[in-house]
Amino acid sequence: MTLNFDPRQIADRLYDGAFRPMLIGGEWVAARSDKVLEVVDPASGARLATVPRGDAADIDAAVAAAKAALSGEWGRFKPYDRQCLLLKIADLFEEHWDELCVSDTLDMGLPIQRTLGNRRRVIGMLRFYAGMATSLHGETIDNSVAGEIFTFTRKEPIGVVGAIIPWNAPTASSIWKIAPALATGCSIVLKPSEEAPLTPLMIGRLMQQAGVPDGVVNIVTGTGQEAGARLAAHPDVSKIVFTGSTATGQAIARAGVDNLKRVSLELGGKSPVIVCSDADIEKAVPAAAMAVYAHSGQVCIAGSRLFVARDIQEEFVSRLSAFTAKLRLGHGLDPDTDLGPVINGRQAGKIEGYIASGRAEGARLIAGGERLTGRGYDGGNFIAPTIFGDVGDEMTIAREEIFGPVISVLPFDTLEEVVERANATQYGLAAGIFTRNVSTAHKLAARIKGGTVWVNMYHAIDPAVPFGGFKMSGYGREGGIEHLHEYLETKAVWINTD
Ligand code: NAD
Repeated sequence: MTLNFDPRQIADRLYDGAFRPMLIGGEWVAARSDKVLEVVDPASGARLATVPRGDAADIDAAVAAAKAALSGEWGRFKPYDRQCLLLKIADLFEEHWDELCVSDTLDMGLPIQRTLGNRRRVIGMLRFYAGMATSLHGETIDNSVAGEIFTFTRKEPIGVVGAIIPWNAPTASSIWKIAPALATGCSIVLKPSEEAPLTPLMIGRLMQQAGVPDGVVNIVTGTGQEAGARLAAHPDVSKIVFTGSTATGQAIARAGVDNLKRVSLELGGKSPVIVCSDADIEKAVPAAAMAVYAHSGQVCIAGSRLFVARDIQEEFVSRLSAFTAKLRLGHGLDPDTDLGPVINGRQAGKIEGYIASGRAEGARLIAGGERLTGRGYDGGNFIAPTIFGDVGDEMTIAREEIFGPVISVLPFDTLEEVVERANATQYGLAAGIFTRNVSTAHKLAARIKGGTVWVNMYHAIDPAVPFGGFKMSGYGREGGIEHLHEYLETKAVWINTD
């Protein structure tokens, strides 16, 4: 890939190991405890910066600022003003897009060619919700004969929103939470992941530059246990939007019970990709491979159970191996890198554990299977893209979310059988279907239990299209109009005109 800028030059300018404060009530501050967290580049182990290790006291201050903002200047912003603000933020994002992408790549390892490709799902989201800000309205309900009673509904901002995000897409996750809050007139406290807090802090600066009033967007860095848990339980937070693991999502839902918080959860997955005998193999191979390898498997929608029709299995797997062998692993700032590192040593060890379990439980290792060390990989956490064949549905690698570049190939014989097996999981986030038969496509799409089904494609996300899970992959939707309603309450007003 050819770039018209030098990512390393931007990287050197952005991060030199120094302290980066967090944003509370319009002020850039350290943690009240003065504690810090170190942020490192997962591809090299180099220290990028330190950030405040915020805890309950900092969350309390941020929530108080967010609450106060609702009754200040922000409360007087009309929908049109909010629209203009979102459009201004979008313009600033265009201007700083290269820096945001370099920061994201450093923060969490995703290669620059892919972070740059997220423009539509980030800037497009800001513009989509800018448009929506002026389209929110209630209804009139005709329930009288001669106008003696007039009833209508109002859509009102829910209040203070608490947003907790994972490390694997800091820019997109931040904007997918902040843009709807700004469109609806809410205020927000964002708690980024301790593994990747740098781009969210940069986003805070752009928000200020665009003119977001103090306290409307607060960004508190810190750990899940110390900062996240307090945000999830805070009595003045009306709504939690969370993206992360299913186990944490369950803890967050429990923490919100006391004040009956509205909660939406975007959680993990073990998504099936189904390649039928009549699929266009040329197209299906790279799509099925990248359904898992994109971001080295660290995406919630990773299509990690690859069901392949038995009669094409041999050819498909041989082409999949050839595609895998050509992928270039390395530092994400190199424009030719296809796959970057995994986020940290702990995650690399966990993936190695899954690879060992695949071997021990009788799966056939076809490609990869090891951690890469030596020149180009020193200090980083690199796992070779891995393919297992002859995987049984009961094996650990076919049941649990690995969050690493590991594909399990599971042969199937009939459509009836594959639907049943694809749905035999606690998760229901996404699925891919590859077939040339439109009837098969429709039948499978209707029967798969998942929030998104892609046919002859994978990974597409669009601001206008709702995204979210069935079953243990969560509830609530992000994207589309549905998302905004999660940030609004409906009030019915009755007027007696007699
Ligand atoms: P995680 O659940 O460990 O952490 C996510 C966030 O929650 C972090 O900010 C963390 O600090 C915070 N947190 C942790 N414990 C907490 C607690 N007790 N209370 C409040 N907050 C707490 O997830 P992760 O390892 O950062 O991300 C990987 C997971 O996220 C995977 O399971 C993946 O599938 C999922 N994910 C889902 C989506 C989606 O849209 N469905 C997108 C990306 C990632």
